[in-house]
Amino acid sequence: MDISPCGHDFAISLLQMRSENDLYKRVQQILAELLPNIPMAMYLAPSLSEKERLKLLTLSSAVSPPDLEYLLARAETLKHQHILRGENHLCIVLRNNKAVMGLLWIGEKLPTARSHLIAHLINVFYHQLNTLALSRIDPLTQLLNRQTFDDKVIEITTGEGFVIEREQQGVRKWYLALFDIDHFKIVNDDFGHVIGDEVLLLVAQQLKDNFRAEDFVFRYGGEEFAVLFQSHDRAEAKSLLDRVRKVIANFNFPQVQRLTISIGYTVLEEIAQVSELVHEADLALYHAKKHGRDQVVDFEELGIAGQAKADTDIELF
Ligand code: GH3
Ligand code: MG
Ligand code: MG
Repeated sequence: MDISPCGHDFAISLLQMRSENDLYKRVQQILAELLPNIPMAMYLAPSLSEKERLKLLTLSSAVSPPDLEYLLARAETLKHQHILRGENHLCIVLRNNKAVMGLLWIGEKLPTARSHLIAHLINVFYHQLNTLALSRIDPLTQLLNRQTFDDKVIEITTGEGFVIEREQQGVRKWYLALFDIDHFKIVNDDFGHVIGDEVLLLVAQQLKDNFRAEDFVFRYGGEEFAVLFQSHDRAEAKSLLDRVRKVIANFNFPQVQRLTISIGYTVLEEIAQVSELVHEADLALYHAKKHGRDQVVDFEELGIAGQAKADTDIELF
């Protein structure tokens, strides 16, 4: 790629990245191209949370990482500067207002134009990273959104996802559960949409609080939620889901008071299509709705495993 003087092409190529992984790779290529054989280390706050400690993201070979505490202390003292110059190094600081969200340390004194170009590109990278992170979040509930769901299921079923293994707990499988609020239309009709939105927010909060950090909670549709979680077997998955069902049923919602949810779930099979898995959980959910709501149904209980797969095949072809 030609280097235009303002680095425009590099900036555009960063903005074209549609996944965080591609974006990380691209920024590393750009840095390697602009700073060949120059030692550097990049630190970033994971998940872009201000409360998290910076982690090393890239480190060029043949250099030991600089003292992060020292760099952070300097960045915090010089609150308004984005480029900190040392005797034979410089440090570019990424800030969210005053909080330091990232640092790029470069082990050489660069000409001013070059350091400004790098600072500009690192800021474009950070901006794009934030944009991608935001595009995965549902604005009302702050849960992961539907668009992220398929990717996450594929990551899990193909084993490509980032999974935190729990020690000494035996083999655990992934499950997909679909949650649907019972008679939610009545909430809107009786109390209005603002209260309806508040209920959605509170249910989302309960789901987040009642699953583990390594599980994934999504707002799947209007008043539907999906959760990807791990369990040893179907029975354990059911008791976990039933506990969450009871938490919601016993929760005291402002004005609305009481509310129930129906849940359908299925195990994530490696060979299955995402649509097939959702279809299975959806059939179980439908069964729960038909049989009195406020309950958890396992797809396997329906005894139509073959039938569901056949239906999905017909839909797909
Ligand atoms: P069921 O027990 O069969 O699920 O009945 P239900 O009333 O919950 O189901 P239905 O699908 O008929 O209604 C869902 C309602 O959810 C209708 C829609 O207006 C409401 N809804 C969807 N998204 C939102 C939202 O973002 N905010 C609010 N306040 N309401 C929403
Ligand atoms: Mg619904
Ligand atoms: Mg509903």
